[in-house]
Parts: sequence; C-alpha cells; structure tokens
Amino acid sequence: DTPETATTVDISTFIEGGSLVVEVLTKTNPHVSTRVQIKNLTKKFGNTTVVQNVNIDINSGEFMTLLGPSGCGKTTILSMVLGIIEPTSGEILFNGEVINKIPMNKRDVGMVFQNYALFPHMTVAQNVGFGLDMRKVPKAEKEKRVLEALDMVQLSDYANRFPKELSGGQQQRVALARALVIRPKVLLLDEPLSNLDAKLRKDMRIQLKRLHDELKITTIYVTHDQEEALSLSTKVAVMSKGIVQQIGTPKDIFLKPQNRFVANFIGYSNFLDGKLEEEKGDCFVFHSNNGYRLLVKKNNNFKVGQEVTLTIKPENVKIANDLLQGDWNYIDGKVLSNDYVGSTTSYDIQTSKGDILKTSVLGLAPYSLNTDVKLYLDPNSLLILNK
Ligand code: ATP
Repeated sequence: DTPETATTVDISTFIEGGSLVVEVLTKTNPHVSTRVQIKNLTKKFGNTTVVQNVNIDINSGEFMTLLGPSGCGKTTILSMVLGIIEPTSGEILFNGEVINKIPMNKRDVGMVFQNYALFPHMTVAQNVGFGLDMRKVPKAEKEKRVLEALDMVQLSDYANRFPKELSGGQQQRVALARALVIRPKVLLLDEPLSNLDAKLRKDMRIQLKRLHDELKITTIYVTHDQEEALSLSTKVAVMSKGIVQQIGTPKDIFLKPQNRFVANFIGYSNFLDGKLEEEKGDCFVFHSNNGYRLLVKKNNNFKVGQEVTLTIKPENVKIANDLLQGDWNYIDGKVLSNDYVGSTTSYDIQTSKGDILKTSVLGLAPYSLNTDVKLYLDPNSLLILNK
C-alpha cells in the first residue's frame, strides 16, 4: 500500500460452528469497534419492575435484536442505552467504560424511532443535517456528511424534498440517514419497519442488512416480529416481562429454543406435557399426560423419569394418511378448522385424546372440515423442553 491508501486493521478471530471466521475491522471506518455490555440492568417505574437484571454482551459490529411481545421492556432498554432514561441499577458499558453518567449528547448514539419523527417543515437534507447543526459542525463538513449519509440510504436525489413528498419507506430511510450522519458508535433502531406495509418492510429489511454489512456499526434493534429478528440479526435476545429468556444466534433460537416461551414465540405452537418413560435406541419413549406414547430423538440434557414438555412446529406435523410406515408417532384426529393463506394451508386437528394439534401444509390441501386424518410426528422434529 502507498501511505495514501494504507489502513490499519484489527483482525480478531473466532471459531464459529467449527470453522474459522476472520473478522477484519478497518480503522478507516469511524463507526466500528464499539462493544456494548449491559450488566445487571434493572429499571423500576414506581413499584413495577419493567427490566429485571438484564445481561447482554454485544460485540463490536454485532446486530443484536431484542425480540419480545409488546410491553416486555425492549424500548426501556434502548432508552437507557440512549440516555433518556436512567437505570434503577446496573451498568451500561461502551468499550469497557461505564456510560451511566455520561449525558445523552456525549454518547454518540444514533436512534431511529418507529414513527420516523422527521421535521415536516425541513427538507430531507435539513432533517439529516440537524444533528450536525446541534454539534456545531462547520458548513462544508456538514454538507459533505449529509450527502454521504443520504448516499448510504440511496436517497441522494431526494435532498431537497420535504417529508410529505416521500413514501413511508423513504421517510424511514431519511430517519436512518439522520441517525447515521453523526457517525454513531452505536445505532439503536426501535421497531423502525413497523409503520410500513408488508412489501416495503421486506425491501427495507434488505437495505438495513446491506447497510449493516457495509458499515458494521454495533446495532441494537427492537422488534416483536420474529421473521425480522431472524433475518437481520447476528444475535437475538428473546425477552418476556423484563427478563431475557434466551440469547443466541438466529439459528440457535430457531432450532434450539430453551423454554416454552421462546419456542412459542418463534413458532412452535404444539405442546404436550408428560414424562420420559424409557430409552429405545437413539430415542426416548415419551408418555404424555393424556396417554400418547411417542418416540423422540434423545437429547443428553434430559434423562429417563424426567417430566418434560414436547413441542413441534406445525409445518413438521405431517398429515400422513397415505404414508403409514410403522407403529410409532401416529395420532388420529379430525379436521376442526382449515385456513388457506396462499402458500400454505393451516389446520387445527382435534385428536382422539381431545387436544388440538396445529399443522401447516404447503399449498391448498384437500382436507375439509370433519375429515378423519392421521398425523405423523417425526421423532427428529420433536423437541424436548424443560417443563
Ligand atoms: P412495545 O413493543 O409495545 O413498544 P416494549 O417491549 O418496548 O413494548 P416498553 O416500552 O419498554 O415495552 O415498556 C415496558 C413496560 O414499562 C410497559 O408495561 C410500560 O407500560 C411500562 N412503562 C414504560 N415507560 C413507562 C413510564 N415512563 N412510566 C411507567 N411505566 C412505563
């Protein structure tokens, strides 16, 4: 490299799934390299604890999503990282430094809200430049950075428009440019896509992903949409009632939910309580409280005699009328309801033991109400959870 083009690089290596991944962070990119640690963070409003002893470690460049239902404390955590709400106890650290007492305007955190919150009387360029005016950035530098930020969100041609002359997706991209223009150490995104229609949400998701791949800004994203969380994130923290239930890669969360709440939240909607009765080859025999005996692939975290819950996704419950291959894992039932939604048909099946199992079949399936069906629960698709 010539001195003009030389860059300093940090190379950190880590092992993921057995393969060596080398992450190169260029020092020329001012956004990279902020590790955010949330330690024992608690927030009480009066007597109500809305965030309870939360611990989340976010590596530099990571895209961490807080996923959970409305009211579980996601926004409150973002607000504490941003600095508009003070923690009741616990610490937030940026690169090892506790920032609890650092005022909001000194934290270099960019935030995008659900409702864009653009100034209607300012042009796109003025909206984006606002944060730089506040920071008294000189005019020439400001203009350069506004253009740079608009370029990042592919809105360079819209600088002179007013917000009302833009689509919802474009407005949200302006909000993103406004957060990026300050070159934040950390980017906070609070349900930024939820005001957009389904198609636009997908487009914006792809744009967000591209942007994060390019800039590698440490990002904390809040959503209650599991598909969004799985698609965008490097890690996901699933939350319920102010408590983190599980943190993991999207794949971990999807394939190995640790408890019933997480399983349910990411689409496992069939649950059977019972006991692991005995071992049979590489399976356990599970005896449900209402009388099923099912084979389930062994998992070393569980042992015979244990009370557990079995779960299975609707798409893995097969309607197997014509596929009978053995004695195990077939359940008789009747079609209670069907719901055709284009790419799939969902069924509620009332089983002979009186409970309801959900199944989802590709395309338009031919089972009308009250049809007798046989369900097959593949031992490999059943997951054992702590009761
Ligand atoms: P949503 O997805 O609906 O935005 P959330 O997971 O982001 O939900 P929070 O906004 O963090 O949830 O709110 C968590 C809980 O704290 C809610 O029960 C809310 O009513 C309560 N809460 C939030 N702010 C305050 C406040 N200033 N005073 C009292 N209670 C509050």
